[in-house]
Amino acid sequence: MIIFGTKGYLYQLAILTLVCGHCGNPAAHTLRKRVTKFTLFFVPLFPISTKYATQCTFCGTEQKVTGEQAEQLQTQAVAGGYGGQQQHGQPQQPYQS
Ligand SMILES: [Zn+2]
Repeated sequence: MIIFGTKGYLYQLAILTLVCGHCGNPAAHTLRKRVTKFTLFFVPLFPISTKYATQCTFCGTEQKVTGEQAEQLQTQAVAGGYGGQQQHGQPQQPYQS
């Protein structure tokens, strides 16, 4: 007898400040990855589906994103830090005497 099934895993990848497409607020969004794994005798073997979504913390709306978009958002999150939306680096002050 073979027992097989699936098991879902949820990972929180990043928190980003985005303008929500639903409520229109520039609210914090969580970027999540949902992986469904194939299990055999309750042992997860390999992922059969990977899905990404952002969820607005203000209204709770979940929006699906592609893997590529998720990667871009993660890069943004790392570059900008949590909540501190700094873009294009610091302005350089020229030294003049
Ligand atoms: Zn929202």
